[in-house]
Amino acid sequence: MTEPPARRLLLVHAHPDDESINNGATMAAYAAAGARVTLVTCTLGEEGEVIPAELAHLAPDREDALGAYRVGELAAAMKELGVTDHRFLGGTGRYRDSGMMGVAQNHRPGAFWAADVDEAAAHLVEVIREVRPQVLVTYDPDGGYGHPDHIQAHRVAMRAADLAADPGFRADLGEPHAIAKVYWNRVPRSVVEEGFRGLADALPGSPFTAVAALADVPGVTDDERITAEAGGPAFGAAKAAAMRAHATQIEVSEPLFALSNGLAQPIFVTEYYELVRGESGAAPGARETDLFAGLGTEGMDQ
Ligand SMILES: [Zn+2]
Repeated sequence: MTEPPARRLLLVHAHPDDESINNGATMAAYAAAGARVTLVTCTLGEEGEVIPAELAHLAPDREDALGAYRVGELAAAMKELGVTDHRFLGGTGRYRDSGMMGVAQNHRPGAFWAADVDEAAAHLVEVIREVRPQVLVTYDPDGGYGHPDHIQAHRVAMRAADLAADPGFRADLGEPHAIAKVYWNRVPRSVVEEGFRGLADALPGSPFTAVAALADVPGVTDDERITAEAGGPAFGAAKAAAMRAHATQIEVSEPLFALSNGLAQPIFVTEYYELVRGESGAAPGARETDLFAGLGTEGMDQ
């Protein structure tokens, strides 16, 4: 038996593509450093809008075959990031994409938004007790931008972190495990403002004709709330390649990308986090540059 990597990072996301947009550089950096990176995706993204015209037939109102197609896109993206452990919550297709807030799909049987939080969390408890991550990354309570599946992913991840540590909960799912640090995805307002400054000048030569609004970026918050950053320019190419692998959802033209609305946004290669549980490993007032800082695992996987 070989020992598992000393550093173990778990990320919980709503749909295939969210991980690459939010954490692609972080995931690539830790995978390259020998840490175990585990991604749990809660739905197959069946309700997504399809960008390439030649794949429009996959859409939910036509063949409804987008979910299975996006399983392949996610696998290709994980290859680009060097991540080998990626799973769907409760198994592939257990929970379905709920669509945007307020649509009828929110309430159809199997929709993630309609799922019982404790029942969904039990599936994640099983993963947590098996992988035993020290660090969990997920969304803030608003899911970054209010999408029902993102809000639900936040609730399920936070609930599972509690239940996994509870010796009284479901002994059949493994030995209790307490996650040392929990982070929410964030983007500092100053970074977004800087990223959007001059964005219009970058449009010529790209396939995009208009720019997104600052409000289109999920998880934007005051700089003071950011406690950690990870990834960085060395992992920008891997992040862009992973985003490109989600071709039904994202069009990439470095350093820009666009979702199905076609509006250009900057690709952020440094990714930002707010520590919400656990102790910061940085000096008081300073940002952590390693999500495992203070855990005594530094350099153990290199
Ligand atoms: Zn999403």
